[in-house]
Amino acid sequence: MKFCDECGSMMQAEDGQWVCQNDACGHTETRDVANETGMTTEQSQEQSDVVDMSDVGEEAMGPTTKIRCPECGNDRAEFEMKQIRSADESETRFFTCTECGYRWREDDH
Ligand SMILES: [Zn+2]
Ligand SMILES: [Zn+2]
Repeated sequence: MKFCDECGSMMQAEDGQWVCQNDACGHTETRDVANETGMTTEQSQEQSDVVDMSDVGEEAMGPTTKIRCPECGNDRAEFEMKQIRSADESETRFFTCTECGYRWREDDH
């Protein structure tokens, strides 16, 4: 809401400026659009990319599972699922020992 500086009549916002509603006056004033909208920009603060590093060890590794390494006896290995050749065959898990780096594939059951 704004009132005309010249005649005191109510002004209406039109095309970025205030226009006096008194036809005999016709006074116009430039709107301070930046100031009017300034209040709403605060909520546009970007969420910082907070990455939870608590589950990541010193090395960036894939998912690990509890399985005994046939090479060194360590009980934890990184694993990945791979589908061999065709969709007819079930996925096979490949393990990489987190201790010695030995790689092996899951035995077929
Ligand atoms: Zn006026
Ligand atoms: Zn091992």
